[in-house]
Order: sequence, then C-alpha cells, then structure tokens
Amino acid sequence: MVKASAMLEDAPALGNGAAAELPAASAATTAPPAAAAAARLSECGIRPTEQRVQIAALLLSVPQHLSAEQITEALRRSGAQVSKATVYNTLNLFAAHGLIRQLRVDGECAWFDSNVAPHYHFQDEQTGTLTDVAPHDVQFSRLPEPPSGMEVAGIDVVIRLRRRGE
Ligand SMILES: [Zn+2]
Repeated sequence: MVKASAMLEDAPALGNGAAAELPAASAATTAPPAAAAAARLSECGIRPTEQRVQIAALLLSVPQHLSAEQITEALRRSGAQVSKATVYNTLNLFAAHGLIRQLRVDGECAWFDSNVAPHYHFQDEQTGTLTDVAPHDVQFSRLPEPPSGMEVAGIDVVIRLRRRGE
C-alpha cells in the first residue's frame, strides 16, 4: 500500500538510529520524568496539563507505535482515571502540534507514532504491530506526475508482513 500524505514534508533525513531523533527518548526504557515530558509539550506549544503530561510521558518514553486503545489501557493500568475521549482528543492535539504522528495504516485503527522523523513501516498483518523502516532502505524508481496544480506532500509506505507458508 502506497499512499500520499503530508508525512515527509520539511523533515530532515533520518539515520538508522531513529531513537536519537527524539529529544525526549533517552536510552532508558522507563518513562522519562514528568518534567521532561512537560518541557517537550511546552516546546511544541502545548499547555502541559497533568493528563497531557501523563500521556506524553507514556508515549515519548521510547520510539513506539501505540493505538489510542493501548494508550488508554496503559494509563488505566498505571492508575490514571482517563476517558477514551480525553485520550483521543489529547493524541489529536499532540499530532496537530507535531509532537507525535498519527498513522492511518488500516481503516479502523489509528496508530500514534512517537517517532516524527520521516520513515516508513512494516506491519505484521496478524497482530497489526508496526516496525520502522529507514527511508534510505526504500527507493522509488518512478512516481506518477501529480495532477496539474498539485504537488507531492509526502509518501507513506506500509509493507505488510506475514509468516512464511501462511
Ligand atoms: Zn514509526
């Protein structure tokens, strides 16, 4: 599936270490301190309310792809009282400010990517799990001319995977 979107615009080339591109994501596997998440929110022009900081800390702890459902569940497991609507609204706000990227890789499920540097994805057809693909690992030899008056804003690539023999 190849579809155009705005994902690649204005972004610098991505090296192999996608993690290094995320200021809030250290090598640590635990969530960054709330202070770091709050700072990231302020940098992006988002007022850091308690709930937003909680959600940002969860998402930005490591480069990852999470659905709104998974984020809601993780927050509830950690004791937070959040509604699904709040989580959705917060994620959309983050995406609108470029803190995270919303991915539409299949019809029903919205995934949120904490890696906003340009890259493509593998997706496991069975589990839906997304894995990053570095942009230099994909090459286009030919693209169609955009219709008159239009330009290509970006290209999304999702390479769907299944186990051999299935
Ligand atoms: Zn990704």
